[in-house]
Amino acid sequence: MCGIVGYIGEENATPVLVNALKKLEYRGYDSAGIAVLDEEGLLVRKAKGALKFLEEKISTEIIRGSMGIGHTRWATHGEPSDINSHPHTDVAGKIAVVHNGIIENHAKLKNWLEAHGVVFRSETDTEVIAHLIDFHYNGDLLLAVEETIKRLEGSYALAVISENDPDRIVAVRKDSPLVIGAGKGENLIASDVPALIEYTRDVYYLDDREIAVLFRDHVDFYDEDGVPHSKELFHVEWDVSAAEKGGYEHFMLKEIHEQPKALIDTLRARIKTYTTKSINLEEVGFDASWADAGRVVITACGTAWHAAMVAKYAFEHFARIPTDVDIASEYRYRNPIIDPKNIFIIISQSGETADTLAAMRMAKKADQGLLR
Ligand code: GLU
Repeated sequence: MCGIVGYIGEENATPVLVNALKKLEYRGYDSAGIAVLDEEGLLVRKAKGALKFLEEKISTEIIRGSMGIGHTRWATHGEPSDINSHPHTDVAGKIAVVHNGIIENHAKLKNWLEAHGVVFRSETDTEVIAHLIDFHYNGDLLLAVEETIKRLEGSYALAVISENDPDRIVAVRKDSPLVIGAGKGENLIASDVPALIEYTRDVYYLDDREIAVLFRDHVDFYDEDGVPHSKELFHVEWDVSAAEKGGYEHFMLKEIHEQPKALIDTLRARIKTYTTKSINLEEVGFDASWADAGRVVITACGTAWHAAMVAKYAFEHFARIPTDVDIASEYRYRNPIIDPKNIFIIISQSGETADTLAAMRMAKKADQGLLR
């Protein structure tokens, strides 16, 4: 997971990008970077470590430019370092890309690009995207992005800017979140709504494989083949402070302390009466037929896997249903035997854990008889 942001408007982009990134630090904090387009061209600044190191790095210079993109990273490919930080650029440094996700076929694409003379600078999966966009660029950034995403396997939320297109940011997503904020004379991109609220409460939620082209005064939407369409604007009413740290020193501490309340809030409406002890979970598809499931299979990664281990104790102790717990990254690659009768549960704190989502898709395919 990581956080991406973008700004195009009349203001100085850099403080907006840094400020928006601060709201996304919970998504990743091993390095950060920005790319800003000013009259002289593309300027990229990146730094390993928390966002404050990037802030320190740029504090001594005046960066002008009213459009740019930014990133706060949680590395998947390539160690946290200045070079591996996003944004990544093409060889000429004219196209910049920020990416949240994993490009599964990056090694193959890298070989192909190297055979076409591209010299790579970083160890990330993301860098292939910048070079592919350059390869497909023929004066039309939207078309170059369309051609590029046809070649990408995996998950991505992308924001792309180019020196040759100083009036637009192109954004697209697949299996990673991306929200567009519609302001007055300015438009923004972020991985999550809290980063936008200070600037606008009017947002578009980008769908999978949908492309947005942000100009200063409007946003155009296209499907993956470049066919334009209109899109519904949402007004965000909810209280952002609830999504932030709520007085705790850091998010982990807040989440630990919130566990009893979160459990009570989740279950309260579903526990019909304390006397009959009946729990109603119809909305997640739980019904009496599940009594024949025979087995519960839970997949998860990291701390969610520890939560799954607790669930195993509870399921086996209270419900007497045998329960398997699997690390999702092992599960998806070990050709598991999936019985469509079983109850399959995934746990992901972010809702975006790539391996866990892949395990879920495998189980769904098995359920539809598409896997053996
Ligand atoms: N895969 C990219 C990288 O490692 C993006 C990471 C992320 O989404 O957190 O740089």
